[in-house]
Amino acid sequence: MPVVQFQAQQSQLRVNTIYCIGRNYAEHAKELNNPVPTKPMVFLKPNAAIETENQTVKLPKESNDVHHEVELVLLIGKKGTSIHRDQAWEYISGVGIGIDFTARDIQQKAKDKGHPWTLAKGFDTFAPVSEFIPISKIDTAKSFDLKFWVNNELKQHGTTSDMIFSVPELVEYISGFSTIHEGDLIFTGTPEGVGKVSSGDSLKASLNNGLTELTLRVE
Ligand code: MG
Repeated sequence: MPVVQFQAQQSQLRVNTIYCIGRNYAEHAKELNNPVPTKPMVFLKPNAAIETENQTVKLPKESNDVHHEVELVLLIGKKGTSIHRDQAWEYISGVGIGIDFTARDIQQKAKDKGHPWTLAKGFDTFAPVSEFIPISKIDTAKSFDLKFWVNNELKQHGTTSDMIFSVPELVEYISGFSTIHEGDLIFTGTPEGVGKVSSGDSLKASLNNGLTELTLRVE
């Protein structure tokens, strides 16, 4: 089973369900000509998409347009159902930064037909994540800063204060439908600036200016 690195336990933690949120930043919804949602838009990735060992992302032959989406990723620490937003942070054990890689051409075809996005979002290596930082080291009242570079050029820079639905609102919403468990991840959506990656690119993502980082090479 795929695992992630968790600084609190100085060990690996098995990944359970991977929840993702679409269109959680208004400027990103606009750049893809999508409407801004009135409720969180939730989808899943297969946990085979987790990549923590080789620090590479593999471009699938089925797509000619794989996009980066840098996102704050939440690590769930305990089981919970119908969690109120005021208690949401108690269920989060760590935070990290990850990339929701998306085969935009495959996704567009699925959207046109009203089909699920799963295959566009679910290729192997399409959910790389950094080491997770324990929530005890975080001031959860403050927003998070997200940065993403391709070949040392800054492509995305956002703050979670621009999220349409906040972290507590997302935990409340998801857990209202489905019990969350230790080892679940929540990708919380991407700010604007998404774009294509190409073979040979060097990628870097940083949460809060180096609190935790992710570096990747595109194969
Ligand atoms: Mg995304």
